[in-house]
Amino acid sequence: MKLLVTGGAGYVGSVCAAVLVEQGHDVTIIDNFSTGNRNAVPKRARLVEGNLEDKAAGVLSEGGFDGVIHFAAQSLVGESVEKPAQYWQKNLVATLGLLDAMRDNGVSNLVFSSTAATYGEPHTVPIVEDMPTSPTNPYGATKLSIDYAITSYAHAYGLGATSLRYFNVAGAYGDIGENREVETHLIPLVLQVALGHRDKIFIFGDDYATADGTAVRDYIHVRDLAEAHLLALETNQPGIHRIYNLGSGDGFSVKQVIDMCRNVTGHDIPAELAPRRAGDPAVLIASSDKIKRELGWNPKRTKLETIVRDAWEFTRELGDQAHSAKR
Ligand code: UDP
Repeated sequence: MKLLVTGGAGYVGSVCAAVLVEQGHDVTIIDNFSTGNRNAVPKRARLVEGNLEDKAAGVLSEGGFDGVIHFAAQSLVGESVEKPAQYWQKNLVATLGLLDAMRDNGVSNLVFSSTAATYGEPHTVPIVEDMPTSPTNPYGATKLSIDYAITSYAHAYGLGATSLRYFNVAGAYGDIGENREVETHLIPLVLQVALGHRDKIFIFGDDYATADGTAVRDYIHVRDLAEAHLLALETNQPGIHRIYNLGSGDGFSVKQVIDMCRNVTGHDIPAELAPRRAGDPAVLIASSDKIKRELGWNPKRTKLETIVRDAWEFTRELGDQAHSAKR
């Protein structure tokens, strides 16, 4: 298939683009490198550098595209609270432009990268897709608004689309892993402590209503996540918008994650208690039964130990590269 991957230099986008290229698809990436990495762009993909809102119409008007996988977005919860205008512009407005460019050029197959943040603080877990959505921050609200737009485009214009609501994505695939200029995610931060690049990890709150008091999340391996995008792309039906959660169905507390990182790396990993981080729900666990049942999604690497091992291998290599670059 000839495919457009927006945000294909980002963490999840570049793993997905790598898998698509490996499977023989013809991939064009649009990325502005606001958070992506140049070396994560697969060699056999074509790169169009720039903002989605400036590039999508031109690229799609070249013709022949069979589908779009849309990752490009701003995705930091805290930043979205500080700078909502930027989030509405870059997420919602730019996506509306993409949807219209698809419509203008007869491209009717879309996979959209969405998030558990659309649900907000859940009343019960595991979260199933028909639970109420009530985002607690602008980031989640922009992603949910895009879902509303996609549903109406599917009904009115025959778009075939799938939104994938990710829970906590982690791990690495080959030489692609979490490598952000500003890192806020638990597993890469803990592994940076193990590598000696940070002194300690802060545990954001131990007074949640969970077994050990720290917040519980559902971690999914980035390679399994990529697989779900392929399945969605292959099974989209004109006029139908499907929504699936992607997680493991298992929850791990912050302390359990740190312990797993200690086991895998053999390092002490000093940890220090800090106040809760604003906007963090106590427990987020997905039910992914729907995508397993309907699309046959079969995660193979989504065990916390495998996720941490793959992430650790990547982190160590990154550390080695940084070390040799300094010498
Ligand atoms: N967390 C933490 N210390 C950190 C980073 C994260 O205790 O330095 C906690 C965070 O409060 C949350 C969990 O780890 O409960 C996962 O956070 P992350 O940012 O990785 O993902 P999120 O669930 O926010 O998408």
